[in-house]
This record gives sequence, C-alpha cells and structure tokens, in this order.
Amino acid sequence: HSGFVAIVGRPNVGKSTLINRLLGQKISITSNKPQTTRHRILGVDTDDGCQAIYVDTPGMHKQEPRAINRVMNQTASSALKDVDLVLFVVENLKWLEDDKMVLEKIQRSKVPVVLLVNKVDQLKDKERLLPHLQWLNEQHKFDAILPISATHGDNVDELRKIVRSHL
Ligand code: GDP
Ligand code: MG
Repeated sequence: HSGFVAIVGRPNVGKSTLINRLLGQKISITSNKPQTTRHRILGVDTDDGCQAIYVDTPGMHKQEPRAINRVMNQTASSALKDVDLVLFVVENLKWLEDDKMVLEKIQRSKVPVVLLVNKVDQLKDKERLLPHLQWLNEQHKFDAILPISATHGDNVDELRKIVRSHL
C-alpha cells in the first residue's frame, strides 16, 4: 500500500511540527512566525509495508502579497488533487476566517479528509473540547476527527493507523 497524504491548514497550526513528528526527522522549517514554509516538501513514512508520502503544502493565507498568494494557492489547491487523503490541521478551540477558507478549498475536492485538532496540550479546560469537536463535526463530513498534540506526540500513533487505513 502506498499513497499521497496532503497536510493542509492555515499558518501556525502546527503542520511542519506534525510532519517532523511523523517522519521522525527535521525535514521542514518550523517557526513560531507564520508563513515560514515556502516550499512544498515531500517526506515518506514507510511502516509495516505501507508507504505514506506526505505533502506539506504552503499556507493558504489571504494577507500575503497578491502574486505570492496566487502561486501558493495554486500549489495548495494542486496538492489536493491526486492525493489519497487530506489531513486538515486546526488549532484547539480556534476557528478563524482562514480555517474556513482552507475548508472551502478542501470541500471542492472529493478526497477523504481527516480533521486534526492540534495543540490540545494547551487546553487547561479539556471539557471545552467536546462541544467544539461536535461543532466541527457539523461543518463537513470528515472521515475522522482526532485531537492531537504534534509537540507532545499525543495520538500521533493513532493518526498513523488512520493514515495507513487510507493507503
Ligand atoms: P505551521 O505554520 O502550520 O507549519 O506551524 P508550525 O509547525 O511552524 O508551528 C507553529 C508553532 O506552533 C510553533 O511554535 C510550534 O512549536 C507550535 N506548535 C505546533 N504544534 C504544537 C502542539 O501540539 N502544541 C503546542 N503547544 N504548540 C505547538
Ligand atoms: Mg510550516
């Protein structure tokens, strides 16, 4: 089994951190400043005879200079074609205009989407997560919704299993 997995989400949600965690090595730039990932980077996770080829898409941000924005949007949109699975990363309880924009792009493709709610380690009051997950569940027919922590590694093994099941 082998397939392409696109990681999408607005800047700063933790896409690079997650791909580094999944691949177990630093192959992508991580920064606390948004917009540092300028290139689409491929990394391959081979596990149990399964090969997941990860595509780290550039941010889809409307505040960028127009020409760059257009190129990055094209890259991001084309990354959604011909992939087997999309990992849509959002940040704990946040739902911003840019998250909505990313979701709208995803909804144009028919690829299965797993929603990853990242940075759950930051939540002091975990009880607030459940109603938010329920709300997110109503926004799109996600294949799965998984709370994760890319920095702590919480649920990353579970994520690997979900990815493998789509390859
Ligand atoms: P990207 O723009 O989506 O690629 O986001 P990055 O991977 O560059 O992460 C942006 C910031 O969020 C960095 O400071 C990361 O250390 C931080 N970050 C990423 N994942 C987590 C997480 O699971 N928990 C916490 N607390 N911080 C995270
Ligand atoms: Mg990044």
